[in-house]
Amino acid sequence: MGEKVYLSATDQTGNFWIDNGLAYLLEQFGEGEHSSDEIMQHLLSKLVQPTGNKGLYYDQRSGQLREYEKCNWLEPANLFIKVAGDSGKKEEIGNKKYPTQPPQFNLEISLSKKEEQCDICGQLGLITSAKMWIYPFVVDPAKFANFYSGGKRGLKLCARCALAGVAGYLSWWWCRQGDNALHFFLFHADLPELLRLHRDVMSPLSLRRGRGGNVPHTFLGKYLHETVLGVLLALFSHIPSSEVLSDEARQYLASLFAGTTPATSPVVLYAVTGVPAQAFDMKQLKEFSRLQQLFRLYEQWTKIVVDRYGAANPHQQIVRILEQFWVQRQRERETIWRDRIAQAVLELSDPLPTIEEFLFDIRAKEESPRPLRQGTEEILLDNYSKEVSQMDEDFIKALSSFGRRLGEAAQAGNERGLLYSLRNAKNVEEFYRVLNDIQFRLSLTVPESLLKLEKGERIAGAPWKRVKHMLAIYSMNAYLRKERYGEKPEETEED
Ligand SMILES: [Zn+2]
Repeated sequence: MGEKVYLSATDQTGNFWIDNGLAYLLEQFGEGEHSSDEIMQHLLSKLVQPTGNKGLYYDQRSGQLREYEKCNWLEPANLFIKVAGDSGKKEEIGNKKYPTQPPQFNLEISLSKKEEQCDICGQLGLITSAKMWIYPFVVDPAKFANFYSGGKRGLKLCARCALAGVAGYLSWWWCRQGDNALHFFLFHADLPELLRLHRDVMSPLSLRRGRGGNVPHTFLGKYLHETVLGVLLALFSHIPSSEVLSDEARQYLASLFAGTTPATSPVVLYAVTGVPAQAFDMKQLKEFSRLQQLFRLYEQWTKIVVDRYGAANPHQQIVRILEQFWVQRQRERETIWRDRIAQAVLELSDPLPTIEEFLFDIRAKEESPRPLRQGTEEILLDNYSKEVSQMDEDFIKALSSFGRRLGEAAQAGNERGLLYSLRNAKNVEEFYRVLNDIQFRLSLTVPESLLKLEKGERIAGAPWKRVKHMLAIYSMNAYLRKERYGEKPEETEED
């Protein structure tokens, strides 16, 4: 194409893919004018890599078969770019056809003759019609619509944005999820900040490229939200201390996440999932922008498990708590509960209905039932309800203490059915009926604060149903804990 392109650290486009690619190009080439051919050759040399296999080609000059190293597009580019290398014409030797050269891989970005406006940066210049197979999920940042959708004329890119798009493949995090692939873009609207994030944080933390992906994580699953949470926890874990990041990089990361205002973080995480096939089938594109609030919760949680349980590795303990919501089904782990709880946490909505369902329908029905992991109640019920759902702290204490007594009494009296009646209460009248039954059959006194029904079917300011979920979880968890560990005040942690 023989064009010159100008790379500038102040020319961000606002598109998470293209800007990530620009950050990569700036890191490699620096600001200034560069030959687009030179950039493309560099990108090809990184994107096309030996597969470890050997092939044979017919060398026309010597008239002999020669061995060559087979190459292919590096993952994740090979999920999208299906262009085979050009291996020349075929030559038949002894009933077998051989290429006449090792395959040459190339990407053509052919530019128009007249100037048009670039769809991404808006500048006037020679443009190329971008192919969907190279840019499968370039989306309109303002509308979150795919540029290709709605029978539009397709995507027109200037040379710089087109090259940045290809460079994007070398800059984003991704992982496989069964048949799907999940792609992550950390994004900062200021290009110099994004460049710094790449250089100081993302590059050092990237796993070595392999078939499973390069994204750092604490746990991965087949669903989007659980995986996003697993990735964020890995990222957060490097802020207090890190064997990989420099002190400067840690402080930088902290400044991005540990802000004092409850505003959204300057960093946004985009996650895109889809099925890699001839044409990539995008399933979901989600934006996660409340990273500051999530990090603040994470900090509080690590403090809680240290103060309450003296956890030697609080990060690991948090991971175990959030990781536990799955069940073995034949040869596969079903993690749908973990995904739903992760979604609630990431969106700062309510994880309680799913925790309740998991505890009553999965854990309690196991052959040898286990309570939830040590610290689950303190984090996902006590702390979360206070910080995120804004519930009254004293009421939470009263509720958890009553829930424990109730669960232990039900276990001692062999009254597990009462806990299911509590869980199944469909309306507030039924809820109070069950509580009445509990008073009578287990000779327990229900705390007064629980009996005060307020306007809008609220109890201590919270919707009655939320209170019911909490009480059901506290009590069933205490029941299972007592059944498994007897009178010991706390279970011993198992792996
Ligand atoms: Zn452009």
